[in-house]
Amino acid sequence: MSAQESERSAEQRREALKEVFAQARGCVRCPELAATRKTVVFGAGKADADLMFIGEAPGATEDEQGVPFVGRAGKLLEQLLEEIGLSRSEVFIANTLMCRPPGNRDPQPIELDNCHEYLLRKVELIQPTVICTLGNFSTKLLRGDPTGITRLHGQPEVLTLGRRAVRLYPIFHPAAALYTPRMLETLREDFTRLPELLALGAPEQPEWVQAHEVEDPGEAPEPETPGHTAKAKAATDGAQAEEIDQLGLF
Ligand code: URA
Repeated sequence: MSAQESERSAEQRREALKEVFAQARGCVRCPELAATRKTVVFGAGKADADLMFIGEAPGATEDEQGVPFVGRAGKLLEQLLEEIGLSRSEVFIANTLMCRPPGNRDPQPIELDNCHEYLLRKVELIQPTVICTLGNFSTKLLRGDPTGITRLHGQPEVLTLGRRAVRLYPIFHPAAALYTPRMLETLREDFTRLPELLALGAPEQPEWVQAHEVEDPGEAPEPETPGHTAKAKAATDGAQAEEIDQLGLF
């Protein structure tokens, strides 16, 4: 593939991601979350990043700013990235849930289910080589298995998400490591193995993907729910709509 072709495909992916973001912004699949959120925290970073992080759900600051991992845990994540020679702008950061659960309660299964399609679209468009799940929540969700992060951290495995095979690399959640020095040490050690994992490149893709590589990058989940329209919600979220460029999300 020529440099120009790869540029164009990165740009196509960026535009498609923006379209999915525009739809997600008006999502009302979870009535309680749609009614209580300030913003939809879609995810932020490079649209064709090799490395993607998936946390749990936005907290109060993320909900205010519309950007994931902007609090203390986010600062730690940035510091750990810096230690391996990467910056936040070179990776993509998302969560299992795009809306803040009220009172920071745990996301509910139906909410995770509602948001999962969006997460898969992000993975399919960004095409990361490595996905780091941060902590128990996203690790269990993506693996579809209750095995906890203490057993799994630092052990890469190939996993197919939607139509994309990736190297899944579960690590401790930086928010947990903030308060437990030994966990921070382990998280730091796991981070140091990221460059060699990235250097392996993408795992072999399912046959279907090889035949239809990014065939329809604009196709996005249908976000409407009965009784509400995504458009109506988007209108009430007008303030956020204006921020789309200002945030420079991807
Ligand atoms: N901020 C996020 O965006 N996600 C988390 O999981 C924690 C903090």
